[in-house]
Amino acid sequence: KKYVYMFSEGNEMMRDLLGGKGANLAAMVNLGLPVPQGFTVTTEACNEYYADGKIINDEMKKQIDDCLERLEKLADKKLGGLDNPLLVSVRSGAKFSMPGMMDTILNLGLNDETVEVIAKQTGNRRFAFDSYRRFIQMYSDVVCEVDKELFEAKLTELKTAKGYESDLDITADDFENTIIPQYKEIFKTQLGRDFPQEAKEQLMGAILAVFRSWNNDRAIIYRNLNGIPHDLGTAVNVQQMVFGNMGDDSGTGVLFTRNAANGDNHIYGEYLINAQGEDVVAGIRTPQKIAKLEEDMPEIYKQLVTIVKGLEKHYKDMQDCEFTVENGKLYILQTRNGKRTGKAALKIAVDLVHEGLINKYEAMTRVEPDQISQLLHPNFTSAALAAAEVLIEGLPASPGAGAGKVYLTAEKVHEQAVAGEKVILVRHETSPEDIQGMVDCEGILTSTGGMTSHAAVVARGMGKCCIVGAKALSIDYDAGTFTIDGKTYPEGTEISLDGTSGKVYMGILDSEESELTGDFAELMSWADEIKKLQVRANADSPRDAAVAIKFGAEGIGLCRTEHMFFEGDRIEYVRQMILSDTVEERIKALDELYNFQVEDFRGIYRAMVGLPVTVRLLDPPLHEFLPHTDEEYQAVADKLGKTLEDVKTKGATLKETNPMLGHRGSRLAVTYPEIYNMQVRAIIDAAIDVERELGCTIVPEIMLPLIGSESEIVYVKENVTKAIDAAIMAKNAKIEYKIGTMIEIPRAALTADEIAKHAEFFSFGTNDLTQMTFGFSRDDVGSFLPEYINRKVIQVDPFVSLDQSGVGQLVEMAASKGRSVRPNIKLGICGEHGGDPESIKFCHKTGLSYVSCSPYRVLIARLAAAQAAA
Ligand code: ADP
Ligand code: MG
Ligand code: MG
Repeated sequence: KKYVYMFSEGNEMMRDLLGGKGANLAAMVNLGLPVPQGFTVTTEACNEYYADGKIINDEMKKQIDDCLERLEKLADKKLGGLDNPLLVSVRSGAKFSMPGMMDTILNLGLNDETVEVIAKQTGNRRFAFDSYRRFIQMYSDVVCEVDKELFEAKLTELKTAKGYESDLDITADDFENTIIPQYKEIFKTQLGRDFPQEAKEQLMGAILAVFRSWNNDRAIIYRNLNGIPHDLGTAVNVQQMVFGNMGDDSGTGVLFTRNAANGDNHIYGEYLINAQGEDVVAGIRTPQKIAKLEEDMPEIYKQLVTIVKGLEKHYKDMQDCEFTVENGKLYILQTRNGKRTGKAALKIAVDLVHEGLINKYEAMTRVEPDQISQLLHPNFTSAALAAAEVLIEGLPASPGAGAGKVYLTAEKVHEQAVAGEKVILVRHETSPEDIQGMVDCEGILTSTGGMTSHAAVVARGMGKCCIVGAKALSIDYDAGTFTIDGKTYPEGTEISLDGTSGKVYMGILDSEESELTGDFAELMSWADEIKKLQVRANADSPRDAAVAIKFGAEGIGLCRTEHMFFEGDRIEYVRQMILSDTVEERIKALDELYNFQVEDFRGIYRAMVGLPVTVRLLDPPLHEFLPHTDEEYQAVADKLGKTLEDVKTKGATLKETNPMLGHRGSRLAVTYPEIYNMQVRAIIDAAIDVERELGCTIVPEIMLPLIGSESEIVYVKENVTKAIDAAIMAKNAKIEYKIGTMIEIPRAALTADEIAKHAEFFSFGTNDLTQMTFGFSRDDVGSFLPEYINRKVIQVDPFVSLDQSGVGQLVEMAASKGRSVRPNIKLGICGEHGGDPESIKFCHKTGLSYVSCSPYRVLIARLAAAQAAA
């Protein structure tokens, strides 16, 4: 088996085997670029090293020796040789870049003898001995795990004793006669042996250290955080050294071929004259802007630009490159696709299409769906952030920027907002009563609560910036003040919230609106051309519907009518309705609710002007609408003309121990048919009204929730159809409508062919379907699911990303059974999964007609749908 490849034997497709760095070094060598020669030990070798019990087998050793010999021939130098010693770097490089996770060793091959030769050859004694002491330090730290502070302490000691200000003041003599002997001494006391002088022994030690570093704590944590598998292993690159620290015609630097913050097409980066390796990023000396290189070394600069722009063309993407200049000769040491912000990703993708480097399909994969959400919200300008003072920090519950005057109650926020002020609502925690203030303010800050607190959930739903759990904040509602760090501020104090970082700033910072035009609009128009899935929104109000339209929703996939039941004082009528004893009483309350519902539906139909709207009939358990206090019960009793006792007894009969599996969904249509009859009448009446008003065609899609069997849908459908026909007759109108069902009970998926005979569409309610398939209560998973995920018993939260192998199987089965009896059946998905990119990919593969998600995820879903199709 081949364990070791010369750079010239690899190519960029071999990332799995050679790691990202090795594959790209090979590619650059093959493009004929000036890259120091070397070889790569494969990730397979790393994995075998672990499998064999951390032992490197003889075959690997032999291949390393062979490649070293070939490298020595190419370089015309010998590792450890006294005529012309070869020095190498040993660089780790896994398939995915893991910045700073595994340390590189430079200047390997130096020892007491070769350092003298290098000093003579270069005529630069200081350079030679500085390199040697760096090597001892790096090798001791990375390979032998000797604390690097011990070495740093010696340097500091020397500088203090001699009154030096910086490392640059240290002389060749200091390195040779003070530092290096001390370093060797440290090595000996720590490890009980001498610093290895044998160059080959140094090399094997370094290669093994890179293998070991694959499993150091930092690397494991990084992989866990970024979802990188632990069994990929790392490759090791051994490469001839070039020296940027040979004098003023040498240097080292890093650059991006385009601006990684905003995407502008110009090279930017930094470099240092007379420096090695990490000096640029280590912050010891302040690096120069790359533009200065054009003045310092115009020829080198020109060559560098030609090369990196060539690399950009080759990789068809913005590159992040490392380079070194040795005595006026340029070398490229690394290239990779550069990391970038959402804004830059968007601009670069669109520019690359215009430049003809990639096509529209490729452009889809260049922007992460989550980066889209960075673009959606207004953000503070980077200049403003740089100059601002952080007041306090909390959890970044909902992204975006908000600035204004602090007020501590929803009422005051409302008053000020009406008066034209920009206001921030600050509270311990919000509750449903604060809703008006939450709507009126620019942002919300709370001192308690977590990412799923009321404030966080509601703010995300509204797309409003929100920071929660800022523990160091205390509030005195009576005095109208808030205190941070012992300082008390009055209401009216101006602050700025950055919901993306969780930081709160003093004063009003400049912000910039997100742009849904220009590049953004162009990319999204390509997405719409490419995607096969329709993207609809879950929207319960005309306001949500308008937001959904703004983000390009192609209809409403889920309008949850119960949300309308909770608004304002409607809940009173709902309570009268469910606590009624007779059908007559119930109908009286329902007639009141009809008036609200019909107005809501008109608003939604107006906002959607003819686009499809799927309305789900009442779904939640009646249990959820019950009054909580005696006062609330009394109010209902008064309205119904009954005693408190009576209504409380009635209420008690509606209480359930397991409401999510209880009296809800279409089951309500069997026990209280009047409810759905009222709802379908409102849906049909509103559609007819708006059709007449706007002159467009509306085809209401009426959806029955929680159906579990054929006979159940037949029964419920018969009742609502009668009510629909009566409504149409009463209006003396003609209107087309559809009746379909949710597929959210496993039994419905299993018998989907029977159910499809009576349903014109299916909408997969994957929240409930997941709940019932796993037997995980959605409302209680918090007590154990995090532990499942921590312990990797479950990989991802199935309520966030669809469980494709389990729940997904039910979706696939229902889809194909549904099609078998009704070939043109419309299939959609609603619920959290409709906005999750991985789940969207699955929906595309399964051939669903649409996904439906919250209005603020519509853009993400459009892009994800396009990526699935690209
Ligand atoms: P990382 O993955 O942390 O970026 P690298 O392997 O790229 O680590 O090495 C870090 C730095 O060390 C490089 O940016 C480069 O400046 C320097 N370096 C690595 N190999 C060589 C070499 N053969 N010659 C000169 N400098 C090198
Ligand atoms: Mg690097
Ligand atoms: Mg449901």
